[in-house]
Amino acid sequence: MTVLEAVGRRIEAMPWWDRASCSGVDPDVFFPQRGVSTRPAKELCKCCEVRSQCLEYALQTGERFGIWGGLSERERRNVRKARALASAAYSSQRVSA
Ligand code: SF4
Repeated sequence: MTVLEAVGRRIEAMPWWDRASCSGVDPDVFFPQRGVSTRPAKELCKCCEVRSQCLEYALQTGERFGIWGGLSERERRNVRKARALASAAYSSQRVSA
């Protein structure tokens, strides 16, 4: 069982989950208690071949907890904000063109 399967039981399994580097890893590594380092999880994610799919999944589903695709909750929130700003800027450019 991968971390994603452990926390994603409420949704349909993704086809890329079987290639996850976190397969067999204790899910607590990816959902550390406050004050516990996220570094071990992020190190595993660095060499994961489905990292981008994992991150997109977390961004699309609004996953609020844990390390997904090598990013923390706060880092994912920043990515979502940056994308929203870029999208808004693109839209306003199209309107004014
Ligand atoms: S990027 Fe990290 S959390 Fe996502 S599947 Fe790979 S090892 Fe697991």
